[in-house]
Order: sequence, then C-alpha cells, then structure tokens
Amino acid sequence: MWELSKRRFLQAAGLAIAGRILPRRLLARPPEPRSGSRKVIIVTFGGGVRYSETFAPEGLRNIPRLKELRAQGFFYRTCANAGVLSHFNSTASILTGDWQRVDDFGFERPAGATIFEYYRKQTGSKATDAWAICTNKSFSPIGAASLRDWGVPYGAQVVLPKQLLIEAVDEVVKKNRDGGAANRENVLRQLEEILNEGYEGLGWTIFKAGRDLDQTVRATLTRSLVEYINGPEMPSSGDELTFFIAREVMREFAPPLMLVNFWDMDVAHWGAYSLYLQAITRTDRLVGMLWEEILANPNYKDKTTLLVLPELGRDGDVNTANGFLNHRSGDASCRNMWLLALGAGVPGGESERPVAHIDVCATAAAVLGVKTAAIAGRPMREIAGA
Ligand SMILES: [Zn+2]
Repeated sequence: MWELSKRRFLQAAGLAIAGRILPRRLLARPPEPRSGSRKVIIVTFGGGVRYSETFAPEGLRNIPRLKELRAQGFFYRTCANAGVLSHFNSTASILTGDWQRVDDFGFERPAGATIFEYYRKQTGSKATDAWAICTNKSFSPIGAASLRDWGVPYGAQVVLPKQLLIEAVDEVVKKNRDGGAANRENVLRQLEEILNEGYEGLGWTIFKAGRDLDQTVRATLTRSLVEYINGPEMPSSGDELTFFIAREVMREFAPPLMLVNFWDMDVAHWGAYSLYLQAITRTDRLVGMLWEEILANPNYKDKTTLLVLPELGRDGDVNTANGFLNHRSGDASCRNMWLLALGAGVPGGESERPVAHIDVCATAAAVLGVKTAAIAGRPMREIAGA
C-alpha cells in the first residue's frame, strides 16, 4: 500500500523525472532584452470575485498588495462585463474585444481573433512570443480563434500547468521499467487525487492543447516544474502553479504578450466563504510577485504594461441568488468590476469613466502598436495614449 504524503510523493516523482528524462537544461539562455519593445501582460484576477471583497472599503483587507499597487498605477473604478457571465466567454471577450457567446464549456474557440493573433501576425513574431497560462482547465482553446486567416498558426501557446504536472509524472512512470502497469496506474491515481483535492471534484481530463505544446518548450517547463516541486516553495494551489509557470515563461522566453489566468477564487461555488477569501488573498500575493518579477527582469522592466482585472464578479444578493456562491444573476455585483493598470506608459491616477472588458484588447493592441479588426472595444486613452 502506498501511503505517501503529497509532498513526499511529488518529491519522489520530481526526483525521478530530474534523473531520467531531464538530465540538463534544454534551453540554457534567456533571450537578450530587446530595447524599446513594449510588452503587455493581462492578468485575470480570476475565478469570479466581487467588488465587496476587493476594492470596496470593507474588501481592502483581502488585497493588501493590490491596495498598495493602486497608488502606483491607474485605476478604473468601473470596468463592466456586459457579456455572458461564464469564465471562458468573459476571458475571451477580454482577449478579442467583442462580447463572446461561444460554448460555455470551452469546447469552442473564441469567435473573433484574439490579441495574440493580431500581435503575432502583424509583427511576424514567433510562437513563443505569445502565451496564455491558465489555471482554468477548460481554457485550452482560448489562445486563438477558429477564423480563416487567423487561428492557431498565430495564436498563443496555451499552458494548463496542472496538466503539465500530470504529464510530467506520467513520463516518469512510463520510463520506470521496474514498475508494472498496475504500479503506474496507482501513481497516476494518487496524482489525480492530489490535483483534484478540494473543489475540483469533477474528474480529470488530459487536454489536447498541452500536448500540442512544442516538445522543447514542454520539456523546459517540465524541468522547471520538477525543480520547483523539489525546492522550498512547494505549490499548494492551481494559481501558485500558474504563477510559477508564468514566471518561468518570462525568464525563459520573455514573451511580449501574455495572459495569466488565475482561477482559484471559483472555489466559492462550493460554498466555503473562508476558502474564497483565502483564494483572493493568495491571488493578491501572486499578482504582487508577478509585479516584482516585472521590475526585476531586465526583459520586462520599464517596458511592460500590466492590466489586472477580474473577468467577472459574483452574485450579490443572498436572498434572490446564493450571494457569493455563483455568478449567474447578472446583477451589478456580477458585472461591475475594476481594472488596475501598472507600468510602462501608465500615468498615476483614477477614473470614474466606465471602461469595459472588451476595451482590454484594443488597449493592448494600441500599446503593442498593432491594429485590430473592427471590434466593439475601444482603447483606454489614459494607457494607450489614444
Ligand atoms: Zn465559476
């Protein structure tokens, strides 16, 4: 019988991977800084969070880092989500500049071209120049539209970090000649339990997008993951893994354009208010760490515009809906969010003028110097200089 603790199990798995399939660093040198090139990182402070637990006076205690960063950036007090209140559609609206209404379960790609495609096609940049690192495991199609002339050849590399972890261990077990099939299944079952621990009790699927990642890229990230797992900062949540992989991608590939999708706050669906608050505070900390990485990384310092916003809120009224549990009532508490911009080209200040989720694509395009198709979103003039 296997009675390994989570930590010991992952350590063992990690050590095995390190020794067997990743004997050396595959891409040793990060790219040289390209002076003058602007970068955009979009962070969905995500999974669904209300104003009342964030920038409302009573919520500030949950977000100490963002509260601090607000003073250094430009804060839009109203960023409205007027679209479908699902995670995929809301995030796809941010990326495409038009309100999206595709299959909620994430089987469909966005119906319009994404900022990734505009950027890569017009600049001729390479596949590793645009990334989407996503905690939400149904986000594998988010990196590109299904349109002719756009689509996957110009899309983002989409990484679902937990899936990467599962594949890493799968590799180890496959290569372990001393262990039989039963042993392999046992290890995978245990890993599945670890990764599904808590609220994600919906089973596990290996998603195609991760498998499509370039082999070298995947090996690089897997090796980093192994080192991370064996290091002092053991990840204990999906968002921590996402942060770690995002930081690794920044260090290895320095992409000019990236989406970081945090999602752990959606634990709220399971009804535990304290876990919801914990997830908010954890994401707040991770956004702070991402900002520190931008400041410390010469490829990003002074040339990066960071846009942070919740992709949607949660129900407000505990009597008509279930309050914080869901995000389906469509009330103001679901739709009225905020947006915090930081970094290059961003003045200090605040605005009452409402902006919307679809304005993010247009703003990112203006910052990066690329054109979009005729989309509904408009550049935020304070950031884009429009
Ligand atoms: Zn949800």
